[in-house]
Amino acid sequence: MTTTATSSPYQRLIELTQEGSLIGATGSILGWDHETMMPEGGLEYRSRQMAQLARLGHEMRTASEISDLLESSAEECADDPARSANIREIRRDYEQATRLPSELVEEFARASSIGQHEWAAARKADDFEHFRPHLEKLIELNRRKADCLGVPEGGERWDALADTYEPGMRAADVAEVFTPLRDSLASLMAELNDGPSTPSNRFNEAVVPIESQEAFVREVARTLGFDFSRGRLDRSVHPFCGGSHCNDVRMTTRFQDTEVNDALGSTMHETGHGLYEQGLPFEHVGTPLGEAISLGIHESQSRMWENQVGRSREFWTWCGPIARKMLGKDVADLSDDELYQGANIVRPGFIRVEADEATYNLHIMIRFELERGMMSGDLEARDIPSEWNRMYKSYLGLDVPNHANGCLQDVHWSMGAIGYFPTYTLGNLYCAQFFETACEQVPGMVAGFEKGEFAPLLDWLRSNIHCHGRRYGAAELCQRITGKPLSAQPLLNYLEGKLRPLHGI
Ligand code: ZN
Repeated sequence: MTTTATSSPYQRLIELTQEGSLIGATGSILGWDHETMMPEGGLEYRSRQMAQLARLGHEMRTASEISDLLESSAEECADDPARSANIREIRRDYEQATRLPSELVEEFARASSIGQHEWAAARKADDFEHFRPHLEKLIELNRRKADCLGVPEGGERWDALADTYEPGMRAADVAEVFTPLRDSLASLMAELNDGPSTPSNRFNEAVVPIESQEAFVREVARTLGFDFSRGRLDRSVHPFCGGSHCNDVRMTTRFQDTEVNDALGSTMHETGHGLYEQGLPFEHVGTPLGEAISLGIHESQSRMWENQVGRSREFWTWCGPIARKMLGKDVADLSDDELYQGANIVRPGFIRVEADEATYNLHIMIRFELERGMMSGDLEARDIPSEWNRMYKSYLGLDVPNHANGCLQDVHWSMGAIGYFPTYTLGNLYCAQFFETACEQVPGMVAGFEKGEFAPLLDWLRSNIHCHGRRYGAAELCQRITGKPLSAQPLLNYLEGKLRPLHGI
């Protein structure tokens, strides 16, 4: 690679950043293929492919030329706020990447690829012991990773990992928000439990052919605004949204014979992620200004379409006739109200991704506390099943029946992702606060859902959030959009406002 005579330091910095991103984007498509299409026999060689790409990408992102260019381009772009923001974020990525030795990055990629595969087998067989050695390895690698990244002063190991998903997030701050949230949710749940009426569950008991469910969720995703000429929807064990860039977004969902709502909720959730990805500016592809801010902000987008839209009464006025037409005889005689009620059942359950809006955050709090223990050294892989079961009893009042419905249910730890889970709850909090502001700024927006009009909300998200890429940090964006720092109150207001009437309170 040579610097052309005409390129400025900033242009050269962008070239190098985009080259590194190309490797990451290629790995992302291989990762998607691994989860959706790859035959079993492909695993070993795929792990080597992923490890090679991880090593190459790491080398490119940590080239010493970048360090020099960061200095010279900062001077060059001092008067340009957008370019300065891009340089700031490239610097952050560079500093994070240079703290990790390439052997560790490669070993991590290999362990995570094998870990995911073995996790899927262990979960299928309900056999924690099958997964335990892989989890042990991933915990150990994460401890090493955290130590390399550097534990912030006054913080803990978990913080160093969490910072890679949600810049600036610390365990102590998370605990400070989670504890009062847990108390408020516990009293809301007790209140709902004693309420004079219970929402109808008929929608969730309907048996619906999987082909009908698939056609239905595609129709919903398309109407919300997902552009299928720039994205795909496939199936995987654990729904996710990936892809290589804004014009090639790969999302997945899953289906069961009953619980159409699970397929719909998962699809609307991933569609929210997909709409964010498709809304990022292509002119900045491969640089921070073309990337999502943080996982918490990403999750605010998925949650908004899944919950504030998909579990609203207005949505079901539009969607009810479509559901009755497309989902077969068990759904054909359900009213809009029954569909709406079915989408809003509050009941503690074992599975996080099937949890209702009120109990969801309790699932996250359990994982957060376990991760904190794994990183501090208080917990080892062998302790996870018993601790998991103990906490489900204490937080949700449930006796976990088996590991498949317990500590083997989520893909995250098998990928080596520790510090990730709390971004879901932060996402719920950002989501409620953003949505409250959107409702104030776009009169008639929610009423439009009744007619299948979702563009006003999408346009608001595009112009307030998507178009900025990583120009603003999460906290700054929240302040800019809503005029306030993040608070749990909008989420609690939203949950109480909806769930109390559904329970006759
Ligand atoms: Zn999500």
